[in-house]
Amino acid sequence: MNTADILIVGAGAAGLMAARELANAGKKVIVLEADNRIGGRIYTQHDAVTGKHIELGAEFVHGDLPVTLGLLNEAGIPYRSASASMVQYNEGVFSEDESFIEHWDLLIDKLNSLQQDTSIEELMLKEFPGDEYNRMRASVRQFVSGYDTGDPQKASCFALRKEWQSDDDNAQHRVEGGYVSLMDFLARECRAGGKILLNTIVKDIYLEPGKVSAITVGGTAFHAQRMILAVPLGVLKAGNGQTGAITFYPPLKAHAEAIQQMGFGAVIKILLEFDEPFWYSKQTEERIGRSLDQMGYLLSGEEIPTWWTQFPEQSSVFTGWIGGPDAEAKKEMTDENILMQGLQSLANIFRLGVEELQQRLKTWKVVNWTAKPFTQGSYAYDTINASACRRTLNTPVDGTLFFAGEYLYEGTAMGTIEAALTSGRDVAEVIQDTISG
Ligand SMILES: Cc1cc2nc3c(=O)[nH]c(=O)nc-3n(C[C@H](O)[C@H](O)[C@H](O)COP(=O)(O)OP(=O)(O)OC[C@H]3O[C@@H](n4cnc5c(N)ncnc54)[C@H](O)[C@@H]3O)c2cc1C
Repeated sequence: MNTADILIVGAGAAGLMAARELANAGKKVIVLEADNRIGGRIYTQHDAVTGKHIELGAEFVHGDLPVTLGLLNEAGIPYRSASASMVQYNEGVFSEDESFIEHWDLLIDKLNSLQQDTSIEELMLKEFPGDEYNRMRASVRQFVSGYDTGDPQKASCFALRKEWQSDDDNAQHRVEGGYVSLMDFLARECRAGGKILLNTIVKDIYLEPGKVSAITVGGTAFHAQRMILAVPLGVLKAGNGQTGAITFYPPLKAHAEAIQQMGFGAVIKILLEFDEPFWYSKQTEERIGRSLDQMGYLLSGEEIPTWWTQFPEQSSVFTGWIGGPDAEAKKEMTDENILMQGLQSLANIFRLGVEELQQRLKTWKVVNWTAKPFTQGSYAYDTINASACRRTLNTPVDGTLFFAGEYLYEGTAMGTIEAALTSGRDVAEVIQDTISG
């Protein structure tokens, strides 16, 4: 039967968290997932021969985050520290300078005295226009687009102020066996009282108070009293006719406007496996004039600017990352061309020939998340009126349709698994309160 108490669209962290909470509370739950796997932006791939895994999507627990670590502990899934040193490479020079944004204190002073929100790009052009601030402006742009994967012309100063001043203990963790084991745990719990249907792309949603129907691309209808829509903001922004896009009957005007005003970034992740971790080798040390044997993260001004190792593990996988408008601009580029840009960037940094790197490359994978129809981007970043938009989207429609996802979270761990899990848990709680109230 295609009828449930609660339909959940999307089997990512938010959808599965909500599903398991509601299934554990005795509700009949059906999860409709467009892809042929669960996890969404959690995408762990295991090598059948070695058993090793790589993370094509989320990889780190960014801090001692209570919901994520609590769930890992509950599931008995171990995690280990991924804290490591950060190396900068600029114009031929490697350094480990932690204060990598010049005039940082001045920038924070300006942000603190700001009375009205504006974009970070506008603030820099107004307050720091001179040549002496060229490097500062470039570093801020690189940070906002690299880490937050946002567009500096839209990213909110108030949100960045909050993010940069939050109590960040720099703790980083990786999940043993990959993040997907956490999703498998949630899915197991959910299946005890419900089901998860893969390859089920929802196209239309029909809504009236106390009744909601989802129609799939294949024409199958599912019905429930309530629905949690846990698809990415990128999919909600997509125009009618695009794969994955969803049409509402009747249209949801206020929600649609809020969706368009919120920021959703762009990202490409590049995974390269070499014959050995050459960045730690004696030859590299001699060639570049210093040891990188503790290197975890590498920031550069190259075309593919950010890289990281699996330190402390001596793995031969090197991961590249490009976010924000520069990643958006590569949305249509072929994976092969992006790979070549990655190799050229590494060749420049390590003073090697691209041909040598090609010969040493064993396997590679380019994951262009902005081009993926069921994601269409990276994760949310705050634009100027993001809080008001979140309030709108966190308000259920007729007590029947509830939105969930990382983009609806209000804390400081924005854009993360923590944000998605928290949103899923909170929506499940609201639904239970609605039912019992
Ligand atoms: C490359 C990358 C690296 C990241 N790194 C980290 C990290 O290190 N640490 C961290 O905490 N976070 C990281 N994040 C962010 C984190 O992955 C996300 O915040 C989180 O996974 C989002 O969960 P979600 O449930 O909100 O959305 P999703 O995981 O995107 O789940 C939404 C689900 O909806 C499905 N769907 C879409 N359209 C439809 C449709 N029409 N019908 C049915 N189903 C549909 C999708 O297939 C998907 O399964 C990263 C993200 C990316 C892209």
